[in-house]
Amino acid sequence: MINFAAANILSMERIKLHDKEFRIFIPNEKIQQSICDVAKRLNEKYKSGVSPLFISVLNGSFMFTSDLLKLLDFQCEISFIKLSSYSGTESTGEIREVLGLASPVNGRDVIVLEDIVDTGNTIVELNKILLDKGASSVSICTLLLKPDAYKKDIAIEYVAISIPNDFIVGYGLDYNELGRQYKDIYVLDQ
Ligand code: 5GP
Ligand code: MG
Repeated sequence: MINFAAANILSMERIKLHDKEFRIFIPNEKIQQSICDVAKRLNEKYKSGVSPLFISVLNGSFMFTSDLLKLLDFQCEISFIKLSSYSGTESTGEIREVLGLASPVNGRDVIVLEDIVDTGNTIVELNKILLDKGASSVSICTLLLKPDAYKKDIAIEYVAISIPNDFIVGYGLDYNELGRQYKDIYVLDQ
C-alpha cells in the first residue's frame, strides 16, 4: 500500500541532518526534466550501434541511475563501482575503491554515471582505472556539475544540471550518510 503521508514528509522546505540545516534547492520536477534531456541525447547517440556499458558510481548515483535508465530505449548493460573521496562536507582528494567492478570492461564503450562532479578527482581516477582495464572509450554522464570547482581536462559529455560551489544533499547525495532518501536536492543553509 502506498503511504502518501510518507511521500509528503520526504518533500519539505527545510531539513536538518546531524548538526547542519539545509533548504530546498532543486525540486524533483526540475531534476526529472533535466534527466529527460540527457536521456534524449543518449537515445539519439546510441539508437544504432554497439550497446554501451553503464558504470554507476555508488552510493550517490543510485537514484540518478534508476531514473535515467528507465528512460533509455536502446540495449545497454549496467554495473556498479563504489569509490569514496568525501568526508563530511569536504573532498579529501584521495580516492578509494571501496567496492570493485564486477563486469569486464575490456573492449567496451563505457559510460560513467556520477551523482556530482566537483574537483573531478574521482572521474580522473575512474577514467584511468577503466582505460587500464581495456575500455575502448569512457564517457562521463553526471547529474550535477560544479563548473567553478572542476579544473580537469577530461570532457564531461553529459551534464544534467550545473550548480554553484555549494554543498548539497538529497536525491542520493548525503551528509555523513544522512539525507540520501529525499527526492529533492537541498543546499547547506549557513
Ligand atoms: P570530486 O572527486 O569530483 O571532487 O567529487 C566527487 C564526489 O564527491 C561525488 O561523487 C560526491 O560523492 C562527492 N561530492 C562532491 N560534491 C558534493 C556535494 O556538494 N554534496 C555531497 N553530498 N557530495 C558531494
Ligand atoms: Mg559520486
